[in-house]
Amino acid sequence: MNKAKISNVVIVGGGTAGWISAALLAKTLGNTVNITLIESDKIGIVGVGEATIPPMINFNNALGIDERDFLKATKATIKLGIQFENWKEQGSSYMHAFGGVGKNFAFCDFHHYWLKSQELGIASDFWDFSVNYQAAIQGKFGKLTNLEGTNIPGITHAYHFDAGLYAKFLRQYSESAGVKRIEGIIEHVAVNESSGHVDSLTLDSQQVITGDIFIDCSGMKGLLIEKALNTGYEDWSHWLPCDRAMAMPTTSTGTIKPFTRSIAHEAGWQWQIPLQHRTGNGIVYASRYLDDESAKKILMNNIEGEPLAEPKIIPFKTGRRRKQWHKNVVAIGLSSGFLEPLESTSIHLIQTAVIRLIKHFPHQGIKQEEVDEFNRQSKNEIEKIRDFIILHYKLNQRDDSPFWRECQRMDIPETLAQKMALFKSSGKVFRDYEDLFTEIAWQQVMIGQGLVPGDVHPLSNMLSKDQLEDLYENLRILIKRSVDKLPSHEEFLSNI
Ligand SMILES: Cc1cc2nc3c(=O)[nH]c(=O)nc-3n(C[C@H](O)[C@H](O)[C@H](O)COP(=O)(O)OP(=O)(O)OC[C@H]3O[C@@H](n4cnc5c(N)ncnc54)[C@H](O)[C@@H]3O)c2cc1C
Repeated sequence: MNKAKISNVVIVGGGTAGWISAALLAKTLGNTVNITLIESDKIGIVGVGEATIPPMINFNNALGIDERDFLKATKATIKLGIQFENWKEQGSSYMHAFGGVGKNFAFCDFHHYWLKSQELGIASDFWDFSVNYQAAIQGKFGKLTNLEGTNIPGITHAYHFDAGLYAKFLRQYSESAGVKRIEGIIEHVAVNESSGHVDSLTLDSQQVITGDIFIDCSGMKGLLIEKALNTGYEDWSHWLPCDRAMAMPTTSTGTIKPFTRSIAHEAGWQWQIPLQHRTGNGIVYASRYLDDESAKKILMNNIEGEPLAEPKIIPFKTGRRRKQWHKNVVAIGLSSGFLEPLESTSIHLIQTAVIRLIKHFPHQGIKQEEVDEFNRQSKNEIEKIRDFIILHYKLNQRDDSPFWRECQRMDIPETLAQKMALFKSSGKVFRDYEDLFTEIAWQQVMIGQGLVPGDVHPLSNMLSKDQLEDLYENLRILIKRSVDKLPSHEEFLSNI
């Protein structure tokens, strides 16, 4: 392995991945390494990626970014969850709401009590007990650590934002932290014949940039990791058959919802993401079942405002680069793989990849053991997210199109099959080590999509029907009291 001390870090690409990487590397390692970022305004960025998940807050905190500055600079809104419409069947709707549902019990999750109460005929909806859901559907948001007078967790939030503005915001942050930006198109990547490492990049201006380690944030083509190093790609389209997206912004209409909408259609789904200044829309579809023209029609028929641009088609192949770190190249962002944005996980994966790189940073030279461990962790992380996304497709009960019928029949990864079988037979679901999604996230999608367990935990028998009714009544009152006091989402935004 290359044992040369690492002094020069070169980031290729200035999309969300490039600038997120630059910002955190500059913040943490800026005193020990030189960081250069190359991007080309002529090539541009993919320019989508507007919905995030709660760990984004920790990431911004790690950078020392004030939430108000961030919300203003990126025209962001609050996201409390994702509403899945028509996924189980046409006309159905449920939310993957962030945060908890109900109340924590030792040894036995709340949903067992809820499942038990369904058997006892107590009328309630699982989401009656989600404070995030109740706030989301009432269009409310405010900071709420706990439900009033209790230790039951309050609201958990993430953001919708303008990805282009976020990249600009982080560019400013990174440049003031010492990152050197070079504008230009990389025309040649020089690979060392004996080590197989990337030695240098040549720009269209003929400027040659050398580096010790290269972060490939060049987008789906993977300029370094794939085009130069032929690392290989593991294709997951047999589990996630959508392979195209069409994105189009529209003007805002009505009140700004604090949640993402994911609306299933005959061969995929459509998103609606409300920002302060516009709404992000897009359709994700399987080209085997729907051509571009038909996809465009579905998209245009289901928008609420006026189009602000022509629809932009983005083909993709779901999967992951076989090694996220290969030789002296680490792929971050779209160059490392792609999972459709159903659970808004790509930006999160960028952030965890940079954090992982910093933890494994090879100051004294690249060691294979460290590379292998980095790759093992990355693989583990993305495979768990992959399973969670497949779950949404596999559990559909739609009978109205060949696409959905194929999703019901398709083989799924063994890891997911085991999880589904356990829930179906016992109502139990456990968060795997390094799984991004909590038990409550899994429960909401499984319950929301109609996977009915054949059994529940025996501890749920400890509460009588009357006690369960009392518990529900108390939770409803607590949640209502807390949500009633929150400002509307729009009031919150107007006060930032
Ligand atoms: C349809 C769709 C919807 C999405 N929605 C979400 C979402 O809601 N939430 C979420 O978390 N993620 C989402 N994503 C993913 C998200 O958009 C990406 O993870 C994110 O934008 C990172 O992109 P990137 O920086 O890797 O690539 P890009 O934005 O493509 O940036 C590539 C960079 O490389 C530069 N470059 C490329 N080639 C060269 C060259 N030869 N010379 C110089 N520079 C070069 C370009 O100029 C650019 O700066 C979505 C993705 C798609 C496709």
